[in-house]
Amino acid sequence: MSSQQRSQPISQQHSQRHVDTIIIGGAVMGSAAAYFLTEHPDYDETVCVIEPDPTYEKASTPRSGGSFRQQFSTPLNVSVSQFGLDFVDDWFDRVQVEGEAPDLGFRDTGYLFLIDQQRLAGYQASHEVQKSCGADVRLLDPTELEAAFPYLNADGLVSASLGAREGTLDPWAFMNGFRQRARANGATYIVDKATGISQGAGSMKEVQLASGETISCQRVINCAGPRANEVAAMVGLDLPVEPRIRSTFVFDCRTPIDQVFPLTIDTTGVHVRREGAQYLAGTVPPTDVAVDPDDLRVRTSEFEEIIWPSLANRIPQFDQISLTSSWAGHYAYNTLDHNMVVGSTPVDEFYFCSGFSGHGLQQAAAVGRGLAELIVHGSYQTLDLSPLGYERVLRNEPVLEVNII
Ligand SMILES: Cc1cc2nc3c(=O)[nH]c(=O)nc-3n(C[C@H](O)[C@H](O)[C@H](O)COP(=O)(O)OP(=O)(O)OC[C@H]3O[C@@H](n4cnc5c(N)ncnc54)[C@H](O)[C@@H]3O)c2cc1C
Repeated sequence: MSSQQRSQPISQQHSQRHVDTIIIGGAVMGSAAAYFLTEHPDYDETVCVIEPDPTYEKASTPRSGGSFRQQFSTPLNVSVSQFGLDFVDDWFDRVQVEGEAPDLGFRDTGYLFLIDQQRLAGYQASHEVQKSCGADVRLLDPTELEAAFPYLNADGLVSASLGAREGTLDPWAFMNGFRQRARANGATYIVDKATGISQGAGSMKEVQLASGETISCQRVINCAGPRANEVAAMVGLDLPVEPRIRSTFVFDCRTPIDQVFPLTIDTTGVHVRREGAQYLAGTVPPTDVAVDPDDLRVRTSEFEEIIWPSLANRIPQFDQISLTSSWAGHYAYNTLDHNMVVGSTPVDEFYFCSGFSGHGLQQAAAVGRGLAELIVHGSYQTLDLSPLGYERVLRNEPVLEVNII
């Protein structure tokens, strides 16, 4: 079926529109799912993405740090991000529309996790997992660390984990690549908000929208990010995913670091990376609890009280810095195990895609591909994402990811 034909059935031929797949939420996850479905050679049905805000002002995606890494603690999360990196390698060919693709600006700077005695055994275990997945990672001793990064103060460190083929890109461009190609393939984006889901005739579902319209469909994918639990509740399911605030601070340094500067994670939990001539830093809030999904206040005290002291201790040049801007965004935080909840649910043809807890951008490609496989073939064909399905939530069996930032 041509892309033009695919978009036909949701034109209003009847009083109520019908579409095959409705995706609720059109940021990176919704757009990746739309992309992989419409790219799939055996998917010949329609896709409609419901997204209330085409500017994505409050979505997590454009507020993300935009970083990709292989240094996770479970083999599945390493493999998921590796596919994300493969996708970035082939970016232009995969998403171009009429010879144009958004510029990702990918910078392959690596990640550097600093390790004290208390965390050493955990990082050594993760290192073995990463090596077994073919990741290019190295454990440095303090002498090697000081030689490679002479601007660092290695006091209290017993090791550091350095990864290659990791880095940072523009999250907005990444989302838009999926979005523009999905649209070119025939996916339709509707500016509206899903307010309810009910059972329609036969196996059909009906999605109610804030505008008052109802659209019937075969299946629904919940890509509502930090609001995914609101959408889950529309079909009577409970998802242990809640919005948690993360503030990002941008600063200048009087004496810039003119050497290799990977995204660095201190033992305090403070992370910092270069962004052009400036630096970006953040941390886990001291009181990390669910917040209102409309609360996007920057927690400014974190900078003075936690981030700056930690940075100045670890990188003495950061004693003299000036804050230039800041923003806050939400992690869709999975309180069970800090991992995605993806795939089928007890409600027939209702799929989850949320709970990414701060590493979803790099997981969008593997998750979008997996959802398309599940819908077309009834099972995962490439990477088996089933350990990260809703079943484990119902069984209360965490698949814990410990390397979270
Ligand atoms: C500060 C910060 C830094 C981060 N850094 C990184 C990083 O370095 N690397 C990384 O991989 N990840 C990172 N992340 C995580 C990453 O940004 C997210 O995991 C990812 O963007 C989630 O995408 P999403 O599409 O699920 O959610 P979102 O981007 O939040 O999109 C959800 C969409 O659903 C829509 N929606 C909600 N309710 C409804 C409804 N009822 N009807 C219709 N639409 C609805 C919203 O309008 C929104 O556009 C970071 C996140 C934050 C906040």
